[in-house]
Amino acid sequence: MSAPHYPLFIGGEWLDSTERYEIRSPATDELVATVAKGGAEHVDRAVDAARAAHEAGVWRHTAPQERSALLHAVAGRLEQRLPELAALQSRENGATIRVTGALHLGLSIGQLHYLADLAKSYEFEKAGPEIGPIPAAGVLRREPLGVVAAIVPWNIPLLVIIWKVAPALAAGNTVVLKPDEHAPLLALELAREFEAAGLPPGVLNVVTGDGDPVGAHLSGHPDVRKVAFTGSTEVGKAILGASADTVKRVTLELGGKGPNIILEDADLPLAVDGALFAALANNGQACEAGTRLLVPGVLKDEVVSRLVERAKTLKLGDPLDPATDVGPVISAGQRDRILGYLESARADGATIALGGGAPQGPGFETGNWVEPTVVTDVTNDARIAREEVFGPVLTVLTYDSVDEAVAIANDTDYGLSAGVWGRDEQRALAVARRLDAGMVYVNDWHVIHPAYPFGGFKQSGLGREGGPDALDAYTEQKFISLARSGGLADRAAFALVL
Ligand code: NAD
Repeated sequence: MSAPHYPLFIGGEWLDSTERYEIRSPATDELVATVAKGGAEHVDRAVDAARAAHEAGVWRHTAPQERSALLHAVAGRLEQRLPELAALQSRENGATIRVTGALHLGLSIGQLHYLADLAKSYEFEKAGPEIGPIPAAGVLRREPLGVVAAIVPWNIPLLVIIWKVAPALAAGNTVVLKPDEHAPLLALELAREFEAAGLPPGVLNVVTGDGDPVGAHLSGHPDVRKVAFTGSTEVGKAILGASADTVKRVTLELGGKGPNIILEDADLPLAVDGALFAALANNGQACEAGTRLLVPGVLKDEVVSRLVERAKTLKLGDPLDPATDVGPVISAGQRDRILGYLESARADGATIALGGGAPQGPGFETGNWVEPTVVTDVTNDARIAREEVFGPVLTVLTYDSVDEAVAIANDTDYGLSAGVWGRDEQRALAVARRLDAGMVYVNDWHVIHPAYPFGGFKQSGLGREGGPDALDAYTEQKFISLARSGGLADRAAFALVL
């Protein structure tokens, strides 16, 4: 069967370009699809289409209930295609089929339903308190911004797309979506479902292409009113800069270096499973992964030996096999980058307790593989403890007191996720309150729930996605005052100031 080809989606039409990408499986190198490669001119066309759709009012003037119904319909369509799309995602970015089914598709569909419901309950206009001394009524409105640019990475594409596209559309905006060049297929499949569900042309546009020019041109485009970005901190800073000239609204979901604290009273088998889940889920390519495990010095040997024994049971291999726990990393470049971090750890005096290289032998002849790896004997100033590795690597650090654990945990430029393991819930909660992170998990990890916000402190981001206030970031507030009985006719009050 020949690989399908995906064109760009602009103004309700599927348009090809002269250049195309090959999307190859990071496990087998099979050709999964080809995709049109857009450029700056496609960004201009997509922004023009989105702006025209916004100005024509084809979407923002529909009733919120109608917008909600369309978003629910798309969620239903994704649900019907869940096994097929989960397999497509596994073939495209190497995430294991259990993870693409439950997380990439399952969580995204749940988020879409939740955000669709918000469109119905959101107060787009409400009366405020009475105003004086010139008596007036006050009205508070929330209005769509206009053209929203959504720029996303390859690791969990659909979820981070839904976090942006769903609240943007729920609030009545139009969107230009730029997926990552390594994993654009779910974005394009989503656009197909929106088209089939009856979204008017130009309301959602998808332009595939490289970060520069497509992402860079989009984030600087004068007609874009907001940029919602998920990706690396470095590119997030570039987007913030590009947005400055026209004072765009910006939401950033960036990198992390999640500290995961095992307290002395923790249930160790549970905490060890949790530490591996925190670090290795999605093949270690999750922004809110728990990559720095903080262990009491007295428990270090026991924890490391339990980690190694448990990690040895994890199956590395074919992402489409439901028995697989860890799949390949996205690209050869990313594999080499991860192996480079392990080299730097060795140079910093670390011990590689498990893994540490690329696996050899049958099943690993093609593809981009890194063994599940446990690194110990590092301090928090080592490069591997400070920078985001973005691979199946867990780094173990030790501490002597809870104060020291909290200090090490917070000693990072990031602040996305953190975790605490302990049997005494109140004590664990007290530690959780001291951690500088947008999400803190107690006796668990990767708890992503639609009713709670997702995002980071410090250089992990700006703003939040999801949660009950998700539409606020896609609307402008407007205050209208309506003077009573002719307003300025009340000269007595006006005379107070003039
Ligand atoms: P990346 O920043 O390189 O790329 C992300 C997107 O930005 C891609 O679509 C890319 O084409 C585009 N891009 C690249 N250069 C650009 C530019 N100059 N202007 C505009 N757009 C540009 O990210 P990556 O390394 O591919 O993805 C992994 C990163 O994403 C990690 O740092 C990870 O932590 C982060 N991430 C964060 C979250 C979160 O919610 N906080 C979620 C997933 C991933």
